[in-house]
Amino acid sequence: MATGHAEISGAGIAGLITACALAQRGWSVRVHERDADLRSYGAGISCWYNFVKVIRAVGARPYLNDNRPFYIRETRDERNRVLYTIKASAKPHEETFLVSRHALLQALATAARQAGVEIVFRSRAVAADPAGALILQDGTRCPADLVVAADGVNSAVRDSLGLVKRRRKLMQGAIRVMIPRTELECRSEDGKKGIEYWSGRRRIYYSAANSNEVYLAFMLDEGDREGVQVPLNKATWISSFPHLKDLIERVGDQGRWDNFEQISLTSWSRGRVAVVGDAAHAMAPNIGQGGGMAAVNALALGATVASAGSIEEGLRRWEQVERPLTDYTQRVSYWYGRINDLPGWLRTPVIKLCGQVRWIVAIRQRPANHNPTGWTAETQNA
Ligand SMILES: Cc1cc2nc3c(=O)[nH]c(=O)nc-3n(C[C@H](O)[C@H](O)[C@H](O)COP(=O)(O)OP(=O)(O)OC[C@H]3O[C@@H](n4cnc5c(N)ncnc54)[C@H](O)[C@@H]3O)c2cc1C
Repeated sequence: MATGHAEISGAGIAGLITACALAQRGWSVRVHERDADLRSYGAGISCWYNFVKVIRAVGARPYLNDNRPFYIRETRDERNRVLYTIKASAKPHEETFLVSRHALLQALATAARQAGVEIVFRSRAVAADPAGALILQDGTRCPADLVVAADGVNSAVRDSLGLVKRRRKLMQGAIRVMIPRTELECRSEDGKKGIEYWSGRRRIYYSAANSNEVYLAFMLDEGDREGVQVPLNKATWISSFPHLKDLIERVGDQGRWDNFEQISLTSWSRGRVAVVGDAAHAMAPNIGQGGGMAAVNALALGATVASAGSIEEGLRRWEQVERPLTDYTQRVSYWYGRINDLPGWLRTPVIKLCGQVRWIVAIRQRPANHNPTGWTAETQNA
């Protein structure tokens, strides 16, 4: 199947990267996004080495010029003591950064349009025909050689195919916000780091997202009634993290709550329809790899199908090659989140082990260190 036509539901990370990968291999591609523009609520996203390799491979890196490189990522306890540190400089020829979602989606959409992709807004997909068509809410049937369901965790297209094997609520979630970055943060060493603070069953992730904004994720149990309130209940968070009082007080009324979920499918495709990204393999963001895996699998989908003898053969090979690492990443992310369930006296030593024992670090970092299908050493300089 050298070239063909693809219809994609969802202009998120997975949809836009699949679109780029196919269009750059000669396909005609149309992406349907239900919203009026690229969905970019106020949040940041960490892009580990694997994710950045994909961003470079699809030519979007030049459009991302205000991201914050991770020189150092620290994990600290409730008394602000460093439990472990990951140094990005350990891999000098590779890049990892945090960026605002808005900037990331804009960069991917620019690369997609340059490759000839059409992005249609206010276009909601409701189902797919495995024979090769995407069905829109207004009844329009869009025939295609390949249909891609990249419409996120609540994917309507995936559900129309009956592919869900297991959808598990993880009883945890996060409130995400962006706040203005202060002068002091721009100058201080801590202001340049990505820092995960633990206190009891609550966590706060801190990182600059660009030169003007700081990204904060408040992670906790779904059942923590005070902690889950939006706007943020500052008093309850300050009681868990007194040393972060000044930071927490800067949070405004904005904020978005999301539950963590884990999804696995009986198969990543049916007929000529592929399911990719959170729609196929949502996971908790505990090791920052949900978007990374969405990106890796989206690039691999485009590259594999474009080089296969037929769509069906390409989809089979894609799942066979890519799925084992995705399943593994879901498991590692799930177990990292379960550290929360340990009694307090055991939690801190276990977190330390996770960051200090080399073979445990290697388990956790294996997805980040993966070279994606469709990526080559040449695209690393793109
Ligand atoms: C709190 C939190 C923090 C996270 N942090 C990180 C991180 O630091 N690093 C990381 O790699 N990952 C992270 N993730 C995971 C990451 O956000 C997701 O894995 C990633 O966004 C999945 O991309 P996607 O394109 O599959 O889905 P989405 O980003 O959900 O995109 C789906 C798109 O489809 C559109 N859509 C939905 N329904 C329809 C429809 N019916 N028709 C047409 N369009 C539709 C939506 O509007 C959206 O634009 C985090 C997740 C959470 C919850």
